[in-house]
Amino acid sequence: MTRAAERSQTTVGGTTVTYLPDGEGWMDASVIFPASAPDGWAPYAAFVDAAGRMPVSIGSFLIRTGGRVILVDLGLGVVDYEVPGVASFTAGRLVDSLAGEGLAPGDVDTVVFTHLHHDHVGWTSDVAPDPGFPEGAAVGGLVFPNARHLVAEAEWRYWADKGVFPGPDRRAVLEPLAGRIGFVGDGDEIAPGVRVLATPGHTPGHISLVVADPEGADPRRLIVLGDVMHCQVQVTESRWSFVWDFDPDQALRTREQVLEELQDPDTVLAGGHFADHVFGRVLPPAARRLWADGRLLG
Ligand SMILES: [Zn+2]
Repeated sequence: MTRAAERSQTTVGGTTVTYLPDGEGWMDASVIFPASAPDGWAPYAAFVDAAGRMPVSIGSFLIRTGGRVILVDLGLGVVDYEVPGVASFTAGRLVDSLAGEGLAPGDVDTVVFTHLHHDHVGWTSDVAPDPGFPEGAAVGGLVFPNARHLVAEAEWRYWADKGVFPGPDRRAVLEPLAGRIGFVGDGDEIAPGVRVLATPGHTPGHISLVVADPEGADPRRLIVLGDVMHCQVQVTESRWSFVWDFDPDQALRTREQVLEELQDPDTVLAGGHFADHVFGRVLPPAARRLWADGRLLG
């Protein structure tokens, strides 16, 4: 049985990429992947419990290159809540996880949001965007006061007038970021060797990050997926769309494109929701897919 991932770290040249846990989610596996019902999980029993619930990791990736300190996504914040019939979430460890790396919130120079769903923006301000967020609660400042906060413009514009679950809470996330948020797009370099890869579909302005060795000595690269995939099973079952995908057809096209990239043996994936191991590689296509493609037959 898999579990939400603990801290882990990998390197690309002199750049380190560290998974920092914030918490975990438990999701009804056949609800979040409607195409998997009724028995699509049978070959993947290790990923679900007896009640058909799948654990997912919730956290952030810390990228350190040169003197730069970058966080990709901000988890859930200090929350404990349930979305009836879909999922439950418990979190609140991100800043402690960061302290474990010898870093305080003020040391973070850049925050990049792959997208603005609730489980990626939790530590934006000092109030976690729990759906039960009390009406009168006062929101103070940003948790990472010295950081540039970056997102794709299409993502910001889509959510800017909404502020509803599963998107970002208006008062806890959107209002504190207004006037501070910066926009990035496909190909933009955020730090030496760290570039934006547009991966729309899960949300309108979803982005991933590609981390390469700025010195060019290490041939490997790493792709921080965001929510292009939510679990390892989607590597094989790439047609399983997530229940909250904004545009499932576009999300599928994006997933297939990224999976093609990931078949490069020098490419490591970082899947923030993957249970047990957030870092890994995609092996060459399974036999049934090779048969379909005929690539090994000629
Ligand atoms: Zn997510």
